Amino acid sequence: MTATPDRQLDEPIAALGACLRPAIIAIDGPAASGKSTVGYRLAKALGYLYFDTGVMYRAVTWAALTRGVAIADEQAVSALAHSLVIDLHPPQPTQQDGRHATVLVDGQDVTWLLRAPEVDRNVSAVSAYAEVRAALTAKQRAIAHRYGRGDAERAGIVLVGRDIGTVVVPDAPLKLYIDATPEERARRRYHELRQQDKAVTYAQVLADILRRDRIDSERTLAPLRLAADAVRIDNSHQSADVTLKQALEALCARVGKL
Ligand code: C5P
Repeated sequence: MTATPDRQLDEPIAALGACLRPAIIAIDGPAASGKSTVGYRLAKALGYLYFDTGVMYRAVTWAALTRGVAIADEQAVSALAHSLVIDLHPPQPTQQDGRHATVLVDGQDVTWLLRAPEVDRNVSAVSAYAEVRAALTAKQRAIAHRYGRGDAERAGIVLVGRDIGTVVVPDAPLKLYIDATPEERARRRYHELRQQDKAVTYAQVLADILRRDRIDSERTLAPLRLAADAVRIDNSHQSADVTLKQALEALCARVGKL
């Protein structure tokens, strides 16, 4: 893989990314807050790898649902988290369907299957299991440090999730927390699902988001919270471009202090 900075942005931005050591950017925030959009665009601009850690929790959930493993069976779900081979690849030129990465579970392309409402409904319960978190956090941390040190095909990584700045890589030199109101997040997710012809109502999506927020932030292990040294960006009433600009400003400020 080679670095491909965003064409709309210029080389000085990629050069800015080269100053961050370790080259790790941690992005956290609630469901549908826009953290994936800003994370992906930031990674592209800097030539970093983009890594959405939520797909790992989704992959375990999807595998449990399709293989008949009860979500309530903590032991069986945890065994799945340890045994599944979850691979992430940048999309191929032929895969122009809006994906940010291709996700393979035991070799099968499950990229869009992971976005099913049934996975949405069950993923927070799965991600509250201690063994599931232990298995996936270890994998995420190893990937983060390999790219962060420059030992992989790309130097630099943007990780997106719920506990990246607080638990997975507390040593990340730049931490962002992307937020938006539950109503705005539900509106965005509703439109996304409708575009995929999913039969859902706005009220259902909002209820789902509020329930996931509650489980993700009230769980004992690695709850969603703002790291003390994170920069919080509320993008409820602004465009993705403005959010990207604010993220780049935060990066400039951080590099300036190194
Ligand atoms: O970001 P996304 O909505 O795809 O994440 C799906 C779920 O995975 C979240 O609701 C959360 O329960 C879990 N998750 C987590 N820790 C992360 C990333 C995701 O617990 N680092």
